[in-house]
Amino acid sequence: MKITARLQWSILLVLMIGIGVVATALTPKPSATKPNIVLFFIDDLGYGDLSVTGALGYKTPHLDQLAAEGTRFTNFMAAQAVCSASRAALLTGCYPNRIGITGALGPQSKTGLNSNEETIAELVKAQGYTTGIFGKWHLGSEQEFLPLQHGFDEFYGVPYSHDMWPLHPWQEKAQYPPLHWIDGIKSGAEIKTLEDASTLTSTITEKALSFIRRHKQKPFFLYIPHPMPHVPLAASPRFKGKSERGIFGDVLMELDWSVGEVMKELKSQGLDKNTIVIFTSDNGPWLNYGDHAGSSGGFREGKGTSFEGGQRVPAIMRWPGVIPAGRISNKLLSTMDVLPTLAKLTGASLPKEKIDGVEFVALLKGDDTQIPRKEFLYYYRQNSLEAVRKADWKLVFEHPGRTYEGSLPGKDGQPGPAPENHPFPKALYNLARDPGERYNVLEQNPDIVSELEKVADAAREDLGDDIQKKEGKNRRPSGRIERK
Ligand code: MG
Repeated sequence: MKITARLQWSILLVLMIGIGVVATALTPKPSATKPNIVLFFIDDLGYGDLSVTGALGYKTPHLDQLAAEGTRFTNFMAAQAVCSASRAALLTGCYPNRIGITGALGPQSKTGLNSNEETIAELVKAQGYTTGIFGKWHLGSEQEFLPLQHGFDEFYGVPYSHDMWPLHPWQEKAQYPPLHWIDGIKSGAEIKTLEDASTLTSTITEKALSFIRRHKQKPFFLYIPHPMPHVPLAASPRFKGKSERGIFGDVLMELDWSVGEVMKELKSQGLDKNTIVIFTSDNGPWLNYGDHAGSSGGFREGKGTSFEGGQRVPAIMRWPGVIPAGRISNKLLSTMDVLPTLAKLTGASLPKEKIDGVEFVALLKGDDTQIPRKEFLYYYRQNSLEAVRKADWKLVFEHPGRTYEGSLPGKDGQPGPAPENHPFPKALYNLARDPGERYNVLEQNPDIVSELEKVADAAREDLGDDIQKKEGKNRRPSGRIERK
């Protein structure tokens, strides 16, 4: 059988096109297809402050939708129940005491995040990401420590908590300087009154939307640490008086609106299918503020304590087609686990120094047999190991700590008492049966106690423990400047 020259050419051409198609399919996709990342980190938002976790008196429809379209994690821990420490952990994947950040840094603090530490922003920036933070930084307010020195291309927000201002209830003692917006490294307009503070959520939202529009061509990391609902509370006129839960509910409605606006923008730019959205909180509610505080959802105590009400935070993650929709996962995870997980999803390398986060990509994508995190350490204050968790068990060590119980909270923005040195005894709780940490079963479970003691001993060796006067081998210093 003879094949004409024309037919031979035709076959060759078909083959070449075929090879081309296969080669194109096998070629690694350009970095433009890496997922965008939007990370909401809400300030002092309690576990019970969303409709999907039982909030009353207002609704959070956009967050409910986020949960319906993604996975909600119910055992998700803030690394420590206070602003600066919690933020340091989220951005570096480390226990904050490993990297020398404790408590909430004040405006006069000479301390900040050490430039040797690698943040999520730095890791993804090396992968071609554009990075922006709109909201509250609180990892050092001197220029050397601001976000632009830590891998962020853009910053617009406040340097620390917005109650660190001359209107603070304890101003006489604290002597806080005026609070200003910061644009990059430049100081902007002063936030002088509650009316000024009522623009925080809407301004930050507008800046975030503009960032999405301006950087839609490249993969981006957009970090939105809203300063609300940390006190002092204030909402835009559009939301003021709209809830049945007073100003706290109004503020939550506005934060929910903010999430909705970001989701709407992602959709209208055609980005929402290739964007990972993470929503969580830095710590539980500041309960002695009463009607101006959120709800721990029934967990014990709140912000500034190592009980679950301080550390268990709401967490929702959405990435259509990758993260299962409408799922609830009760696996133990922590904000520290976000960094290694995002690193794996974006192809970024991990920080060179030791971190504490564990990646949970397989779990995130739906493999519920995974148990990425087996233990959790509850450090508080400077470097006190107050409790450890393994599986469902939590061993609390004897320690002095803040308690909200036994005092009536304040109201209308004024705090009630919250004694700092309540003597908590050693206790063992089973969080599966007793999430409220009410029933001490220490004596009934000596084997469990000794297993948890081993976890604590290893932690003391590694990170130290002020309660037992142990230094720890692997702690790194915070950044520090010497002022003349
Ligand atoms: Mg906070």
